[in-house]
Amino acid sequence: MLNIVIFGAPGSGKGTQSERIVAEYGINHISTGDVLRAEIKNDTELGKTAKGFIDQGQLIPDELMIDILASVLDGFEGSKGVIFDGFPRTIAQAEALKKMLAERGQEVTLMVDLEVPEDELMTRLIKRGKESGRADDNEETIKKRLDVYHKQTAPLIDWYKKEKKHCHINGLGTLENIFGDIRKAVDGVKSV
Ligand code: AMP
Repeated sequence: MLNIVIFGAPGSGKGTQSERIVAEYGINHISTGDVLRAEIKNDTELGKTAKGFIDQGQLIPDELMIDILASVLDGFEGSKGVIFDGFPRTIAQAEALKKMLAERGQEVTLMVDLEVPEDELMTRLIKRGKESGRADDNEETIKKRLDVYHKQTAPLIDWYKKEKKHCHINGLGTLENIFGDIRKAVDGVKSV
């Protein structure tokens, strides 16, 4: 089993690198942001709740997010592993993930921490907002999301360091070079 947490601030390239990881290792992909956006598109009750938080650049409450993740994970029974993209975003979510995987006899193999300087994140997200039309990729909401990242999500770096799962990756450079660094890190732990 290969369970990877891909971690980083909004705009750090988690989604892009996840696609490469899925193609390379044949594991399943959970992007909690994509799950929520699909719910919004389908105008479900969950989507309506989620939209209020997303538009404000705030996180969806932990209990709700953890339930969503558990049900997606159940659908992956028998898979070779999972890449978790955008989850966990809080310590409570990391603890819940650890418990959920342990109940299935599994664990997180590696946490890949993509680090990108703040000014570059802003530039990338504003560009993405213009191209994709994602409602939360506007300057005001981006600033809130980066603030939420620093306050609620960045503490996970130390949490995963204590778990001895943390791996720092420089998120600046070409897609290929960054993916090359990720592959080295994953192959390193896979063969242990
Ligand atoms: P993302 O596509 O990962 O940038 O997520 C977009 C938005 O969805 C975030 O700004 C949050 O409002 C919400 N979201 C996604 N994943 C989570 C999570 N694990 N916990 C709480 N909120 C989340």
